[in-house]
Amino acid sequence: MEVKDMVCIVCPLGCKLKVIKDDTSQTGYTVEGNRCFRGADYGVKELTNPTRVLTTTVIMSDAPVKRLPVRTSGAIPKHLIRQAMDIINKVEVKAPIQVGQIIIKNILDTGVDVVASKSMYQNTNMKIN
Ligand code: SF4
Repeated sequence: MEVKDMVCIVCPLGCKLKVIKDDTSQTGYTVEGNRCFRGADYGVKELTNPTRVLTTTVIMSDAPVKRLPVRTSGAIPKHLIRQAMDIINKVEVKAPIQVGQIIIKNILDTGVDVVASKSMYQNTNMKIN
């Protein structure tokens, strides 16, 4: 019997899941240890098509700091994360930036955008005497 142990990361409770291969089930798996239906969905998805929300930073100019925090607007397939990072690492943005602003549209044809996690104002280089 194929069994996979994992921890549900959908909420802070972190239920310990057992995902068991079950050909009689509609999804092909039975999940034990979950306290809610989201854990069952997570367990099956983690074995069939694992996805993650990607959070990182991009290079920024004309701002008081050199990096802008960004994240994907939704989860992308886990196997695409390295390719997504290769694209994100080549991007450079210029302030001002508004939170939620799209930095990369439809990354890797996933239907998910990379958006700014923070607003950033322009560096005015003003001197205060
Ligand atoms: S199974 Fe439900 S209650 Fe348990 S960690 Fe996952 S989302 Fe939270």
